[in-house]
Amino acid sequence: MKVIRGIKPMQEISAYLRRTGKKIGLVPTMGYLHEGHVSLILAARDECDIVIVSIFVNPAQFLPKEDFKAYPRDLSRDYHVCKAAGVNYIFYPEAKDMYSEDYKTYINVNDISDKLEGKYRPGHFAGVATVVLKLLNITKPNAAYFGQKDAQQAVIMRKMVKDLNVDLNIRVCETIREDNGLAMSSRNSYLQEEQKKNAAVLYKMLQMGKSLMLSNEYGTAKEIRKKMKEYAETNCPECSLQYIAITDNNNLKKIINIPEYEGEVLISLAAYFGKTRLIDNILFYKNNERLN
Ligand code: AMP
Repeated sequence: MKVIRGIKPMQEISAYLRRTGKKIGLVPTMGYLHEGHVSLILAARDECDIVIVSIFVNPAQFLPKEDFKAYPRDLSRDYHVCKAAGVNYIFYPEAKDMYSEDYKTYINVNDISDKLEGKYRPGHFAGVATVVLKLLNITKPNAAYFGQKDAQQAVIMRKMVKDLNVDLNIRVCETIREDNGLAMSSRNSYLQEEQKKNAAVLYKMLQMGKSLMLSNEYGTAKEIRKKMKEYAETNCPECSLQYIAITDNNNLKKIINIPEYEGEVLISLAAYFGKTRLIDNILFYKNNERLN
C-alpha cells in the first residue's frame, strides 16, 4: 500500500492503472476511520481491482463556526486500518494543493443542497460536491463508494454525477451501527460514554417512524414527527433534536399524503448531545396498499 500526497502523481498513477485495464474504486473519507469506512473499502475491494481511499478533512465543507480544527485526525491509525482492509493507495493531499490561493470554482447541486442538512449548514454541500468532483478528476475511478449514513450526500452525489455526465458508478452502502444502534461516525469520538448510550435513542426513533409510516394509520408526516419527538422527550431528555424530515430519496421532497404515497421513504434527523451534533436516517420502501 502506498500513500500519495501529490495531485499530479496520483493522476499519473490512476491514468496508468486505467490504461492497463484496471477497475478503480474510490472511497472518499475525512479519515479517523471506523467500521463504516471499512465496509465501503470492502465493497470497493469486492467490485474493483484497485482501491484508493482518500483522506482529506475538507475545509470547504465546514462552516466558520464548525469543528474543522477539532475534527479528529490520526493518519498512522488510518494507515493500519487501510492496510489491513486491503487498500492499494491512500490519497492524502494537502489543503494548499487542493485549494490554491486563487481558487474560484464550486459545484452547487441546486435545491437539494438547501434542504435538510443544508438548511442548518448552508454551503456545506457545495463544499462536499466540489471536493468529490476534484477527487474523481484526480483518482479517475470507475466506481465511488459512499455511506447511506450521509443520506443527503448520497442523493447529491448521484445527482451531480448524472447532471454532469461523470462516467462512473455511485455505490451507496448501508449504515454500520454500534450494538446499541448508534450509527458509527468519526464524530462519536466527541461523545462521553453516557452520551453514547443516550444517542441510541436516535435509531429507536427512526425505527419507530418507519413502523408508523408503514402502518398507514397516520394521514400526515407531521403526526409521525410529533410521535417521534415525544418518544425522544420521554426516553432521552438529554437529546436536543434539531429536525426530523420525512421525504422521498430522489429530490428530498417532503412526503405530504402518507396513505397515498408509494416509493422509497427517507426519514432523516439531526440532534445534539451536549455540543456534539449527530445525524442519522432510515430508508425503506412503502407501498400504499391497505394492510386491512
Ligand atoms: P466521512 O469520513 O465521515 O466523511 O465519511 C466518509 C464516507 O464514509 C461517507 O460516504 C460516509 O457516508 C461513510 N460513512 C460514515 N459513517 C458510516 C457508517 N456508519 N456506515 C457506513 N458508511 C459510513
